[in-house]
Amino acid sequence: MENCLFCQIVAGETPSARVFEGPRTLAFRDINPQAPTHVLIVTKEHYPDLAAVAKAGGGLLDEVADVARQVAESEGAAESGYRVVFNTGAGAGQTVFHVHAHVLAGRPLHWPPG
Ligand code: 5GP
Ligand code: ZN
Repeated sequence: MENCLFCQIVAGETPSARVFEGPRTLAFRDINPQAPTHVLIVTKEHYPDLAAVAKAGGGLLDEVADVARQVAESEGAAESGYRVVFNTGAGAGQTVFHVHAHVLAGRPLHWPPG
């Protein structure tokens, strides 16, 4: 999709610090990290948000969850704990309308987040 930042990152047209690549997913570090580990997991295909990728089915969301598991393991956060967040909609803080999971770890993560 043209003019989509995360499609451009998937295509390699915009650089990113990649940490994992699967056939249908890509994980890279957030440019403005909110924790020592702050990785974004995107689908290579463009879906605007979590609702759209959930509706599409096909096991893609399972793959995103499994990439989160692998990222947490490789970042050393599987035991200590990590948070996986999908901001969905502008009112919830979504700013890039290409579905992405935030994986946050490496500091105490309070709840509720505020
Ligand atoms: P959202 O607010 O949509 O849930 O999350 C978008 C995230 O993308 C933000 O945490 C923001 O820091 C990150 N981001 C924005 N632009 C870039 C970029 O060019 N590269 C990377 N790696 N992350 C970005
Ligand atoms: Zn996109």
